[in-house]
Amino acid sequence: SEFVKEEFSRGMLRTKTVEDILTPLKDCFMLPSSAVLDFSTMSEIMQSGYTRVPIYEEERSNIVEILYVKDLALVDPEDCTPMTTITKFYNHPLHYVFNDTKLDAMLEEFKKGNSHMAIVQKVNNEGEGDPFYEVLGLVTLEDVIEEVIKSEILDE
Ligand code: ADP
Repeated sequence: SEFVKEEFSRGMLRTKTVEDILTPLKDCFMLPSSAVLDFSTMSEIMQSGYTRVPIYEEERSNIVEILYVKDLALVDPEDCTPMTTITKFYNHPLHYVFNDTKLDAMLEEFKKGNSHMAIVQKVNNEGEGDPFYEVLGLVTLEDVIEEVIKSEILDE
């Protein structure tokens, strides 16, 4: 029945987690904080086509900042501005969520906040050492909306 189908699709958003839909860290377009905003870096960013670029220090798992492409509007590549000058100036907040966050909860988070991107981390307690936070990737509002749409199509 209609009721059963609707409950099924709602149920998907209640049971699926951000880990199921994230963009894995290895596929993320990111830049090191040591980067310089010269012609080559700026064209690399433009060619990536992404609106937001996580900035990492030393290792890709250590995301420290986020660059919005629109932050580059007043940057002249001739000046070779250090990346950190721009990221420290705009200082966009980083949002972290745990891997087991359900999609309905994630959607509510995105609705509340003004950032539509979150970094997904999990507590890794495999192995001998102390548990540590492991970054798995990133999730955006777009990823969640895609699931909502998929579930609504199943609804039809
Ligand atoms: P954009 O506005 O940059 O296109 P969206 O929020 O619309 O980003 O997301 C589109 C897809 O791209 C999603 O699957 C999201 O996880 C992924 N994505 C967003 N930013 C990046 C990035 N810097 N590197 C890799 N994938 C990204």
